[in-house]
Amino acid sequence: MDAMVLTAPGLPLRLELREDPVPGAGDVCVMVAACGVCRTDLHVVDGELPGIAYPIIPGHEVVGRVVALGRGVTSLALGERVGVPWLGYTCGECSYCRSNRENLCDRPRFTGYTRDGGFATHIVADARYCFPLGETGEDVAIAPLLCAGLIGWRSLVMAGDGERLGIFGFGAAGHIIAQVAHWQGRSVYAFTRAGDVEAQRLAKSLGAEWAGSSEDQPPVPLDAAIIFAPVGSLVPAALRAVRKGGRVVCAGIHMSDIPSFPYNILWQERQLLSVANLTRGDSIEFFEIAAQADIRTHTSVFPLLEANEVLSKLRAGQITGAAVLQP
Ligand SMILES: [Zn+2]
Ligand SMILES: [Zn+2]
Repeated sequence: MDAMVLTAPGLPLRLELREDPVPGAGDVCVMVAACGVCRTDLHVVDGELPGIAYPIIPGHEVVGRVVALGRGVTSLALGERVGVPWLGYTCGECSYCRSNRENLCDRPRFTGYTRDGGFATHIVADARYCFPLGETGEDVAIAPLLCAGLIGWRSLVMAGDGERLGIFGFGAAGHIIAQVAHWQGRSVYAFTRAGDVEAQRLAKSLGAEWAGSSEDQPPVPLDAAIIFAPVGSLVPAALRAVRKGGRVVCAGIHMSDIPSFPYNILWQERQLLSVANLTRGDSIEFFEIAAQADIRTHTSVFPLLEANEVLSKLRAGQITGAAVLQP
């Protein structure tokens, strides 16, 4: 197999040729057809997350086909198209696992972070955390749904059912969740980097009521806002944009420090919360919604070997929609 490997924080990924992996008990080997590039991959590459299992293959939006079954796997079949998401393993025993919150498991493993991910031609994954994708839709179009879509969906649920929804950071997750929110009959207000005309144009084309810079105030007070960009100064900006009793959801795994802000922008029962990871239940729920809402992802496709260049583009805000690697 070929793999793009991170050996230490901040280094470029290095192409390695390895033996094709053999799945252990309970695992499957998947031949990768497409793997989305997520903001979290940048946090891994930059060493901004604790406990990265070096050397690590990043990538957690994997679409591929099962090419080998480990001992005891009966839930998936050879040749079946599956998705391998961020949540790679949970213990099943801690208080969070036992209370339907496996996203908060005390002993989890995450694809492309603490177990090898999909910036490769092959990946070994725990069969219980892969899910069948069926045969509808292109591999490339589906890949961004596996994290941007899933965690975006969890964030949207956490945001409540307010009608006016702000989305701060209009990239892979933003452009998927805007479509879901629009399909649900909500009004979407998209906030991008100042001057990012392309992202604003994409937002409008996906039904957003308004698109502007994150430094602007929306034309009306919002019921809720989701922050997808890893920028702490967006927290007070979003709190200022929501009405009394409104909710601000931080969807990312990492964010720059949040600047201090006056209590009165939180007061009057505004709520500030964060979303972490996903559950397998989220996947089932979201893929049903995505099919009904007929989500169209806007993707830019690159060869696997260009992973470093793609990460640089993502960092510089030069990707509109979602980037996807193909071996
Ligand atoms: Zn657990
Ligand atoms: Zn992700």
